[in-house]
Amino acid sequence: MSSDLAARRAAVLGPNVPTFYETPVHLVKGDGVWVWDADGRKYLDCYNNVPHVGHCHPHVVSAIAAQAAQLNTHTRYLHAGIVEYCERLTAKFQTQLDQVIMVCSGSEANDIALRMAQAVTGKTGIIATDNTYHGNTMAVSQLSSRKPPIGGYADHIRRIPAPDTLRPVGGTADDQAAAFARELQTAIDDLEASGHGFSGFLFCPTFANEGLPDLPQNFMKPAEQVVKAAGGLLIADEVQPGFGRGGETWWGHEWLGLSPDVVTLGKPMANGHPVAAVVARRAVMAEFRNAFGYFNTFGGNPVSCAAAAATLDVIEQDNLVDHAKNVGAVFLRELHSMDHPSIASRRGRGLFFALELETDGAADEALAAHVVEYARNHGLLMGRSGRNRNILKLRPPMPFSNENVAMACDILQAAFKA
Ligand code: PMP
Repeated sequence: MSSDLAARRAAVLGPNVPTFYETPVHLVKGDGVWVWDADGRKYLDCYNNVPHVGHCHPHVVSAIAAQAAQLNTHTRYLHAGIVEYCERLTAKFQTQLDQVIMVCSGSEANDIALRMAQAVTGKTGIIATDNTYHGNTMAVSQLSSRKPPIGGYADHIRRIPAPDTLRPVGGTADDQAAAFARELQTAIDDLEASGHGFSGFLFCPTFANEGLPDLPQNFMKPAEQVVKAAGGLLIADEVQPGFGRGGETWWGHEWLGLSPDVVTLGKPMANGHPVAAVVARRAVMAEFRNAFGYFNTFGGNPVSCAAAAATLDVIEQDNLVDHAKNVGAVFLRELHSMDHPSIASRRGRGLFFALELETDGAADEALAAHVVEYARNHGLLMGRSGRNRNILKLRPPMPFSNENVAMACDILQAAFKA
């Protein structure tokens, strides 16, 4: 039945729409940190940061159902849902980040952020890290490195090396931060010389798609100064780290002590309902609205806001940010006790971890693929990332427990042994 579905999927969706795994997992049900396939097999989900408060959380499900039964429409009518939600959301940020645009995907949010940088500076040059991903619109995909754009990267884009745990540039933590800021300054100078000018730096505060490097907490401070001195916008893409994923703080930029001009949000925001947002300083918002205006048919509709508000409720009521810190510390300790000569680095914060695999000093993509496949066949779902796809990525729903940690690590250890 699943193979039949896979064939029909390929026939109707077209080529190059990959599923994970050699034999795709055909999921039919989720609950908390668990998902089930069509044969009734249960998997522990360590892949997914979208069902942030757990798959099918009853509070979120009933909020969606109740609002869907009441009213769903676009945002050109007055509705309390979007106002109340955005008030609650902005209260989680530094006071100057106090206005919101609700959208439906992280890609749309980043696309708006790029236009905000244009509106404020009157320039178009944008800088991102290499080996990143910020989304799939025409503008944003120019920053992403998964597949080079047709015709090559646009001339107004500069990409600087992302921080790298195993091969850091610079010795001490301060040296590394200074080296990164120097790269940024060089790219800014280059953009200014090219005539495009510098409008902003868009980065993920955990460099998650780049491989989740261990960052000194002051890593981005010199870079922030460079961006601000050059008059560009500092844009934090919180699609991966946002909503407490890293434990301790709600936002990745907060942990780094930064004051961004624009923050983009997505994935975990409404526990799987397509909700994303841009949070910006009001002066930035004013320039953007004046320059472009903006309307998004589905963004911020009543059902989306009900889903997002219910997700916030659960994070707050269940103290999931602290929980991520506490259980995450146990998880990291267990990862450190894991034994295999090819584990070159184990790192992470909160409930987001990376195990970087190298054999004889070189990225071991085959081993990473083997571990992910073995884990899938033994009831654990996880992913891979990094330039060489040799970094195991673990990112479970936030209510992950110590027992879940023990089970995940048992399977991982067995995968390494096998
Ligand atoms: N930014 C980052 C850092 C992401 O990881 C992603 C998605 N993986 C996006 C933006 C794009 O989000 P979406 O898929 O919702 O458009």
